[in-house]
Amino acid sequence: MTKRNAAVVGGGVIGAGWAARFLLMGWDVAVADLDPEAPRKVGEVLANARRSLPGLHDVALPPEGRLTVTADLAAAVAGAEWVQESVPETLALKHRIIAEIQRHAPEALIGSSTSGFKPSELQEGAADPSRILVAHPFNPVYLLPLVELVPSPANPAHVVEGAKAVLTGIGMYPLHVRKEIDAHIADRFLESVWREALWLVKDGIATTEEIDDAIRYGFGLRWAQMGLFETYRVAGGEQGMRHFIAQFGPCLSWPWTHLTDVPDLTDELIDAIAAQSDAQSGAYSIRELERIRDANLVGIMRSLKGYSADAKAGWGAGLLLRAQDARFGKPEPDLSGPILTVDRAVPLDWTDYNGHMNEARYLQAFGDATDRFMEIVGCDADYIATGGSYFTAETHIRHLGEVSAGDRIEVRTQLLGGEGKKMHLFHEMRVGGEVRATGEHLLLHVSLETRRASPPGEAVAKRMAEVWAAHKDLPPPDGAGRAVGQGR
Ligand code: NAD
Repeated sequence: MTKRNAAVVGGGVIGAGWAARFLLMGWDVAVADLDPEAPRKVGEVLANARRSLPGLHDVALPPEGRLTVTADLAAAVAGAEWVQESVPETLALKHRIIAEIQRHAPEALIGSSTSGFKPSELQEGAADPSRILVAHPFNPVYLLPLVELVPSPANPAHVVEGAKAVLTGIGMYPLHVRKEIDAHIADRFLESVWREALWLVKDGIATTEEIDDAIRYGFGLRWAQMGLFETYRVAGGEQGMRHFIAQFGPCLSWPWTHLTDVPDLTDELIDAIAAQSDAQSGAYSIRELERIRDANLVGIMRSLKGYSADAKAGWGAGLLLRAQDARFGKPEPDLSGPILTVDRAVPLDWTDYNGHMNEARYLQAFGDATDRFMEIVGCDADYIATGGSYFTAETHIRHLGEVSAGDRIEVRTQLLGGEGKKMHLFHEMRVGGEVRATGEHLLLHVSLETRRASPPGEAVAKRMAEVWAAHKDLPPPDGAGRAVGQGR
């Protein structure tokens, strides 16, 4: 596969997040930033991304791309297919940077991270307005999939489609904002919430912590998975949305909110907010808070994937992750030796207080390896729907070395017995070529109707025989048949 090149101009909070996402999705990335501290800052964001992003997926990501960080904008953007402008939010600066990008990379698509400017404002005076769009992401860019893609009438359809393809390819959800407007969709919405929160602090109604509690223990959890309208549809009971509006519509004319009034950001208000925020979260450094946030986001997004193999499982951001997993695909099995059945990064929600993989997750990884092996011998969802499957009767796991968050684990599976109703598997889990754990499992084919052992269907039996013929003369793996307490 040919390497794809992206450039990011401005390697701050947002630019570094973009760089990390492109890199981990296999693109080579050049970051242009004038700050001599930029390489360190980008490196720190990339380290957080490496811990958290690959494990969101249940398959391996492509090999990481190559990163360069430079003060030389011309060198960074030369040859880039996509340039993400992420300099501070000043229109004059953005105009200057975009002009420079187009001088050195006239063919590139330019996405601007701007939170507020319209694409037509960014395009003013540009050499080629047709290739400049707003691509507004959310922090942390390497985990949150939303990117508001805002074109203007100057952008032809093929440019918009090309931009969507690039953003989808790096695991994002390009929300096409069809009509340009200041601050796009999400930030308009967030600003109204922010305005109300500032009033609540200023009027002494609630502290920063109480406001955050009001969000995170309640409606924030609803928003994360269903948003606003779907949540209210459900809240309307059996009659849905119409009933909800009839019930709560009248409150809109009551003076519940300050609407568009903005409190003056006086020194007194700023001091109060900063002091309350210190009291609430000052025990953590910003880097610690970032890691806590990332672990929480990974847990939430992975749970939205749904754990069943049901093709209809998954919701919201979880559905998107499933689609990206399918895009990466699983490698074709090579039956001639132990078969690669799991190839993935250890997700943050699989690790414990020691930072290494929780005991129960070894079984999950080996369970996933067994599921993949079953799929390979034809015991897939279609076969299971006909009434047959394999159930595990016995398991022995050996823990030989540590496995940490973000480690790439590969499980290879050898068939130790595959005749009749029995399927005897031996899984070896490696990190960087070194065996860290093994799992030996005996499974029996069962009829899902009688829930008793039964011979497998013809196609599965035939495929199993093929694998057995290839594996039966392989040397027995180290540790096979070992009982608990026998040592290594
Ligand atoms: P930031 O201050 O963290 O980063 C800006 C970076 O640009 C800095 O590293 C700075 O050194 C660099 N820079 C400044 N002038 C430059 C130049 N001439 N050439 C190269 N680099 C230069 O800001 P940020 O929060 O990353 O915001 C960047 C953009 O992203 C803004 O348009 C902002 O509105 C948007 N945005 C921010 C957020 C957020 O939550 N912070 C979210 C979405 C979008």
